[in-house]
Amino acid sequence: MLSIVVPCFNEAETIPHFVAAVDAVMTPIAQEIEYIFVDDGSKDQTLTILQELNKQRPQEIHYLSFSRNFGKEAALYAGLKNAKGSVITVMDADLQDPPELLPQMLDMLQNEHLDCVGTRRKNRTGEPPIRSFFSKAFYKIINQFSDTEMIDGVRDFRLMTRQMVDAILEMTEYNRFSKGIFSWVGFKTEYIAYENRERVAGETSWSFWGLFKYSLDGIVNFSEAPLMFASFVGALSCLGAGIALIFIVTRALLFGDPTSGWPSIVSIMLFMGGLQLLCLGIIGKYIGKIFLETKKRPIYLIREQSEVITEVSKDE
Ligand code: UDP
Ligand code: MG
Repeated sequence: MLSIVVPCFNEAETIPHFVAAVDAVMTPIAQEIEYIFVDDGSKDQTLTILQELNKQRPQEIHYLSFSRNFGKEAALYAGLKNAKGSVITVMDADLQDPPELLPQMLDMLQNEHLDCVGTRRKNRTGEPPIRSFFSKAFYKIINQFSDTEMIDGVRDFRLMTRQMVDAILEMTEYNRFSKGIFSWVGFKTEYIAYENRERVAGETSWSFWGLFKYSLDGIVNFSEAPLMFASFVGALSCLGAGIALIFIVTRALLFGDPTSGWPSIVSIMLFMGGLQLLCLGIIGKYIGKIFLETKKRPIYLIREQSEVITEVSKDE
């Protein structure tokens, strides 16, 4: 059986299109499927639509509904945790992940002995140029800094074996960055490239600022390079200060000390103070992450879920 995990945040408009499109692809190849929709604290009619779908097809369409918005990463985790299939896929509800690729992905997974078939966008048409620019910069930076490889344009849309999903579920960290997690667990992965699509309806829930914070999180979660940077800059300025000190002392001994230049001292002090604050900020960012991890808070909280999911897990 194939489980389709779909995180949904205010996707009332797109879910019906999504189910129709996936059904149209899966029915001809007679693949048994289950949908796991995760309503990530939507404010629109998403939950009502999911309840409706579940009433119509209780065996195939399941849903979980969070008590508030926990973010896509938490929704993915909850969905994967509740998926019962031997093959599992994660897809966005907005049809930016083309379901037409699923048969080919299933075929590759089985015949090429892979653990995962991922997807990659060939281009970023339809995306604001400034967003593309920053995305590209993000991938350059993170691949410089992190040991976990992240390929530009890779989507979360991927088909995975049960074994790989179990590995992902073992990563119970609170600060989740899925792109890093998928890559960190390893396993044999191949990518299919496709042309970028625009969403069928609704609007993206990502603001520019949101994406910026997301990419900073990605770097902090999967790299210690910023900490290295702080020590490096600290060591460098120590060295600089040492050399300057020797120079000044020698000069004073040889030529006396005509007092002048307090502006330069003030600038240097301000520069050093700023540098220290920057480094403290970097360290603080990591401590903040540790703080959240040590609280061991649940990654998500469910307010409501479709009946069948609990029944199935009781059967096991
Ligand atoms: N999503 C979610 N929780 C959030 C934000 C987004 O579950 O807090 C879901 C959303 O419903 C969609 C997917 O994540 O299925 C991708 O979101 P979106 O299309 O807004 O992002 P984009 O495609 O623009 O990167
Ligand atoms: Mg989208």
